[in-house]
Amino acid sequence: MNKSKSLVERDRNHLWHPLTQHQTAPPPLAITKAKGALIWDECGNSYIDGIGSWYTAMYGHANEHIINAMTNQMKQLDFVMFSGFTHAPAIELSERLLDILPSNQSRIFFNDNGSTAIEAGIKMALQYHFNRGEKRDTLIAFEDGFHGDTFGAMSASGLSSYNGPFEDFLLKVERIPVPKEDSIADVVKILEEILAANSCAAFVFEPLVQGAAGMKFHSAEGLDLLLKKCQENGVICIADEIMTGFGKTGKNFASEYLNAEPDIICLSKALTAGMFPLSITSCAEHLFEAFLSDEVSKGFFHAHTFSAHPIGCAAALAGLDLLNSEEILQRRSAIANAHINFVHQVIDHPKVKDARSKGVILAIDLDITISRYGKTRDELYQFFMKRGVNLRPLGNAIYVLPPYVITDSELNKIYNAILELLEA
Ligand SMILES: *Cc1c(COP(=O)(O)O)cnc(C)c1O
Repeated sequence: MNKSKSLVERDRNHLWHPLTQHQTAPPPLAITKAKGALIWDECGNSYIDGIGSWYTAMYGHANEHIINAMTNQMKQLDFVMFSGFTHAPAIELSERLLDILPSNQSRIFFNDNGSTAIEAGIKMALQYHFNRGEKRDTLIAFEDGFHGDTFGAMSASGLSSYNGPFEDFLLKVERIPVPKEDSIADVVKILEEILAANSCAAFVFEPLVQGAAGMKFHSAEGLDLLLKKCQENGVICIADEIMTGFGKTGKNFASEYLNAEPDIICLSKALTAGMFPLSITSCAEHLFEAFLSDEVSKGFFHAHTFSAHPIGCAAALAGLDLLNSEEILQRRSAIANAHINFVHQVIDHPKVKDARSKGVILAIDLDITISRYGKTRDELYQFFMKRGVNLRPLGNAIYVLPPYVITDSELNKIYNAILELLEA
């Protein structure tokens, strides 16, 4: 160890970063401090966290209310395993989540990150059919969906540009396009054909907004029809609200835009306000009931060591205090309105192919093709970082998904950086 070297130099010796080709990638930036919507590097430069650190830190970094709740919890009960034991933070969190989740949801299963929430949801759906004496072996998922990087979640993900080495090992999945206003009937037809030709167990989908695909939106009315068709055929509908959950789309959950209710809902990311890795897989009572039996083996034998970590539950509870507080609601609607105005401002720009917003999610597709992890994408990233703004373009999509606590002037700084790019 040589503490006289910078963090970046020491990083290079021993660390292996995610989503990185180490042969060619520029070194990462060492971040030493975060507060509100800002992060600081080891040289003292500040950056506006325009995507809320992958849409987790929605109440701002180092939020005092959340820190206090976690600190108090840590002093009271730091951790205990969740098999054979239970604790107040998990119980209270289940009650408060079920108060705001769609009304059919009745059970909360705890995991420790987004991928494992999806993994648990898929296994629940497969075992649900198995316990009822049915062998169903096919998943349905959207093209270009993203659900995580563990095997089940990776199988459901259609964004598989780098999944080549694993393709022979994935679950069986049939893919459908997302329904757009003018393609609903076509997509329903494709779904009907898949349902007729396969033994479908579950439909896994990101409701209304496909995040990793580049903040692509689809029709709520269309999605509603797909859910109804699936449910008529006994297919378990799994809503991946890991990105959309906790107010991003304007409502607490994107599922609230639907009439049909998902059978299973997965939450993580903003669940703990970016403070702790935790996730939940909630389900409707009929799923839970299919696991009740005198036979032990019909139970759900799936666990993670850190399931329902009390400190994570405390962070989530404190986050729920803030989600619909007057101050945060006011900021959520201010950001949503500012986004709408900005979309109007740029939509006719010759370099803009599409601009759209929903709630606090803003996306601008540039009228050029950019590969996901290529050189042009890195140049875009650097363009914004040089202006003190952290945005991570997804291909040709520049998106903004700021912490709710971002100030108007910080938000304008992001917009101005995008305008400068369009003029450059
Ligand atoms: C981030 C994300 C995941 C995966 O969560 P991890 O915690 O990174 O495993 C799954 N689905 C969606 C929609 C996500 O945004």
